[in-house]
Amino acid sequence: MIYNLACPASPVHYQHDPVQTTKTSVHGAINMLGLAKRLGAKILQASTSEVYGDPAVHPQVEEYWGNVNPIGPRSCYDEGKRCAETLFFDYHRQHQLRIKVVRIFNTYGPRMHPNDGRVVSNFILQALRGDEITVFGDGSQTRSFCFVSDLIDGMQRMMQSADDITGPINLGNPEECTMRELAELIITLVGSPSKVVTRPLPTDDPRQRRPDISKANSLLGWSPSVPLREGLAKTIEYFDTLLASQTQAGVIGR
Ligand code: UDP
Repeated sequence: MIYNLACPASPVHYQHDPVQTTKTSVHGAINMLGLAKRLGAKILQASTSEVYGDPAVHPQVEEYWGNVNPIGPRSCYDEGKRCAETLFFDYHRQHQLRIKVVRIFNTYGPRMHPNDGRVVSNFILQALRGDEITVFGDGSQTRSFCFVSDLIDGMQRMMQSADDITGPINLGNPEECTMRELAELIITLVGSPSKVVTRPLPTDDPRQRRPDISKANSLLGWSPSVPLREGLAKTIEYFDTLLASQTQAGVIGR
């Protein structure tokens, strides 16, 4: 079995070297599919809700083809992942490879990197340090956040499913919230004095995102079990401990 998760997933990271990001998704998929073919292994691709772009269909169902800018700053990630899906399905049709494609929606949890740059770790670290909470745009855009253990359970169920279940299948938590609501919730859970400030909205930032998970539910018997509040509390505890140890060691004090 091969799980192919290789690719930076945070916008700041994947936009740092966009050519390499596309290469990672496309050449990476070609390399791994070739390996799976030679070994007769089944292979799972970590695809993404970004294949839906700035979605005109809400919540997103797997049949929706998406609304993706092919030449914008997010395209290296979106189109790289879309091309990887194409390669997976062509290897399946042309070479009878056993494939599994999951589309992952915003995942978070303990052991994220402090400089990950995505919204959950940014807001938690800002709240813990008493810094300003940086909401991009007016904060009315939505996301649906899935706790890491739920995602992993879904990926393993997908890998173990019958060969005729190829996907693509959405994996995510349909509990949707605005970025402003997320900021307020994290401030409350941390008990932080931090204030919310606004920053410019990045180009092509999707307006809304929520998975329809009926397929994961009926085909894999999967649905997420960790509510946002509970997952955030666990993630806050992780970063709190990390900050305390790093401050003690003089690594990243305020
Ligand atoms: N965002 C924000 N403040 C931050 C980082 C992100 O308001 O410090 C917003 C971002 O504009 C987007 C949402 O949070 O609307 C999720 O961004 P993230 O980078 O976590 O992932 P995305 O879903 O955009 O890939």
